[in-house]
Amino acid sequence: MTARVLNGKELATKIRGELKTKVEELNEKDIFPALAVVIVGNDAASRVYVNAKKRACSEIGILSYEYALDEDTTEQDLIELIHKLNNDHKISGILVQLPLPKHINEDKIINSIDIKKDVDGFHPVNVGKLMIGNPQFLPCTPAGVMELILESGIDISGKECVVVGRSNIVGKPMAILLLSKNGTVTICHSKTENIEEKIKSADILIAAVGKPEFIKGSSIKKGAVVIDVGVNRLEDKKLVGDVEFESASKVASAITPVPGGVGPMTIAMLMKNTVKAAVMQKEGNMS
Ligand code: NAP
Repeated sequence: MTARVLNGKELATKIRGELKTKVEELNEKDIFPALAVVIVGNDAASRVYVNAKKRACSEIGILSYEYALDEDTTEQDLIELIHKLNNDHKISGILVQLPLPKHINEDKIINSIDIKKDVDGFHPVNVGKLMIGNPQFLPCTPAGVMELILESGIDISGKECVVVGRSNIVGKPMAILLLSKNGTVTICHSKTENIEEKIKSADILIAAVGKPEFIKGSSIKKGAVVIDVGVNRLEDKKLVGDVEFESASKVASAITPVPGGVGPMTIAMLMKNTVKAAVMQKEGNMS
């Protein structure tokens, strides 16, 4: 068996095209979606992500404003900037690129973002809304995974879904979204016993571990759908996921590549949330 490759890059391009048309229509109604992108310090990977997000904005017609702060910026200075952006009517969404330098408490920063501008969907209020089935902004990576699965015609209802990883930004919200589509969800983490057995039981396997090629084809159930969220750079600079693509694609029925799978979908969902935020703010229509 050779798995169908789920092309996130292609789907993300389609979504971005649709968003571009939507932004043009909004502009005619005097609505100008705008994203504030805040980056602190000189993390090379963060810089790559921020540039990709700004590029996506400019392609779609979303305005973007970058706030690049020094590594030694204080927590208080960052909170003050966020308060300023919260009150700035021309800003629809605020993205603070993570990770932040160690001396800054990420939770405090996320909590300081206005929930109406929280386009990453990380604020506890938005997490709570997701939890109770009334989401305002879906967190971008899990939302991108869901779009990729659903647009590929894959049915989640009643399926054994195994999420490996329980971070607040990927694993946990991923599990909630699969549950909301009636998947039967297991979350695995570093303390999970018999993890091989659990991974092998998955009809839909989501890998969000952050360990290069951690899951091999021999661990995967024949015909499973494999979504690889991991992005790991090897010493030779090659990018690989958390799944060993070559062996897994011989067993799975469908699999996402790295790069070109979940990554582009994450950015497309950020763009979607920013457009949604602009519309909601204009309409004063916050749930
Ligand atoms: P994270 O916060 O480091 O979480 C990793 C999770 O994996 C933790 O829950 C950890 O368990 C679990 N884990 C670690 N070692 C394990 C093991 N041996 N067995 C089972 N579980 C294990 O990472 P993250 O932010 O969720 O990101 C995960 C990966 O996705 C990274 O490669 C990241 O770069 C990538 N990512 C990609 C995108 C994208 O757009 N493509 C977006 C976000 C993240 P414990 O909780 O027990 O420690």
